[in-house]
Amino acid sequence: MELYAESLTEYKRLKTLEVKVGDLLIGNYHPIRIQTMTTTDTMNTIATVEQSIRCIEAGAELVRITAPSKKEAENLLNIKNELHKRGYKTPLVADIHFTPNAAEIAARIVEKVRVNPGNYVDKKRFELIEYSDADYQEEIERIRNRFTPLVKICKEYGTAMRIGTNHGSLSDRIMSRYGDTPIGMVESAMEFLRIAESENYYNIVLSMKSSNPQVMVQAYRLLIENMQGELGHCYPLHLGVTEAGDGEDGRIKSAIGIGTLLEDGIGDTIRVSLTEDSEFELPVCENIVKRYEPSKVKNKNSSVPPIKNLSKLNITGRDIRKTFAVQNAGGKNVPVVVSDFHKKTEILREDLKDIGYKYNPVTDKWNISDMAADYIFCGENKIDFALPGTLELICNYDSWKTLSDKSKCFPLLDEQKYLDDSLDKSSSINFLRLDCYSKNYPAFDQEKFFEKIKNDNTVVLCLSSENTNAVQSIRRMFLELMEREIKNPGIIICDSEKETSAESLIHFAIETGALLIDGFGNGICLSDHYSDKNKISDYELVNSIAFGILQASRTRISKTEFISCPSCGRTLFDLQETTAKVRAVTHHLKGLKIAIMGCIVNGPGEMADADFGYVGSGPGKITLYKGKEVVKRNVPEGIAVEELISLLKENNAWIEPEFALSV
Ligand code: SF4
Repeated sequence: MELYAESLTEYKRLKTLEVKVGDLLIGNYHPIRIQTMTTTDTMNTIATVEQSIRCIEAGAELVRITAPSKKEAENLLNIKNELHKRGYKTPLVADIHFTPNAAEIAARIVEKVRVNPGNYVDKKRFELIEYSDADYQEEIERIRNRFTPLVKICKEYGTAMRIGTNHGSLSDRIMSRYGDTPIGMVESAMEFLRIAESENYYNIVLSMKSSNPQVMVQAYRLLIENMQGELGHCYPLHLGVTEAGDGEDGRIKSAIGIGTLLEDGIGDTIRVSLTEDSEFELPVCENIVKRYEPSKVKNKNSSVPPIKNLSKLNITGRDIRKTFAVQNAGGKNVPVVVSDFHKKTEILREDLKDIGYKYNPVTDKWNISDMAADYIFCGENKIDFALPGTLELICNYDSWKTLSDKSKCFPLLDEQKYLDDSLDKSSSINFLRLDCYSKNYPAFDQEKFFEKIKNDNTVVLCLSSENTNAVQSIRRMFLELMEREIKNPGIIICDSEKETSAESLIHFAIETGALLIDGFGNGICLSDHYSDKNKISDYELVNSIAFGILQASRTRISKTEFISCPSCGRTLFDLQETTAKVRAVTHHLKGLKIAIMGCIVNGPGEMADADFGYVGSGPGKITLYKGKEVVKRNVPEGIAVEELISLLKENNAWIEPEFALSV
């Protein structure tokens, strides 16, 4: 096994134990299961049953329900009975935080319980305590005593368990020894896993969630290494990005985190956590999972030349590939965004508003948004108006050759043209398309080609792959460039032929995000090609997705980041409405991370690395946080948004909206 995956150059599922949840089997090559969680009050049996049914009808194969205390745990029986009465036998999962008593009741009723090792036994006080080895061992024994009864009940009743670690809710003990790190997350789960195995209980699924996809991906990879190394086997993995938010950003963030792992065959069940009604999570899950259906996977590995072998890879962080700068691409520059306009029949000044440039004819000036593209790939098109200062063009070589003014336009070459020394090239930038490990590769003298690039500081590589394993192909090419010590910047080219924009969003997010979060790529260029000829590309949406991917991979920050929980039976206010309200007044605060969390029990821990937090602390009451510190307690909900703005002002984090746009 190559570290954390069965293969890094072809699609192979990670072998895991098999877990039985009611009649549903998870892991051991069974299809990737999709699931969600209800947001209703668990004591409202009918509302919870009806929402569960909507989720099941939308495709949920498991439904999770919160059980904050014994009474909700007991009411799971009524919910289960009512669902059975209405003909729904889908397995239920009880979600437990802080309350072992509730877990022990729920484990006798539902098919699976989820425990959070960060708070199952420990109360979170955000304290850093020095632990001697003896103190630490004493704590582990305390956990063993409190956790073992649940393990025994699960064994007796055939109930499955998820040990669900969250980046934001590690115990003070783990935080004190390992910090808020992926290895701390892994150790948190391993402590519980060792106790379960000592009781010969193996019906376990594990998760390592974070609102930061990069942290989440690293934690899962480390967990696999740890399980293989220490136990000699892997448990099935439940994948998810916590507090991903809503809309396009929530979908992009989830797809990047979940998809990066699925691409390497890791993951047996997924949940996309959105601050939206639970049933809206399922189509997103389906669009992710269908990429890995057996028929598609077969195709993934058979129809193309194999990717160059890779025996070892240990990707643990960003900036893995160092590059030099070619103008604004590579080096210390943020990744560039290239808008693909080559299919347009003509390019007009007003077309630029879709990619962040709005022309004001009165002032003859461009208003440039934070999500303004850096280049347009115009193909054969010519542009007959003055471009904004921050925008330049890339066009096909033969078209570029004929231009009289080449000051803002650069050629796109293929390998053959690039190797032809008789052709004139640009003295500043040459974009060079390289199709990685596809049917055309290698159709040229590789050694000569790579040597020439290496010594040419005008070349920006544009990496694409017709190989169905595009992520692995492009990743392998980036690694080959590193092996050859080639430091030219590389832009990731990603085309989508999906039928809907929702599917394209998932495709773009996975195929580029999976590379960006591992530190590969100095830019992205996304294009959709609908098979339906009547459907035209939505350039504004594609541009927004491109910037959303860079934001979610934390490689280029162009907007406020909202970390909002999906809500559940503990939620103390209308989370969707509140998130919309907070977003409406703070969306222009580029780079700021604002958390909107439904409850004070889990919210403060789960909001992890947010700069400011807006947390429900009682009916109609909000508590405001700066980082993890409470700054305004129990503010009436009606004035909480204004109080949040005051807090931002007091901390110099506020900009008046009219000054937020650069002109
Ligand atoms: S933070 Fe949100 S989803 Fe998590 S327990 Fe609280 S209300 Fe539920």
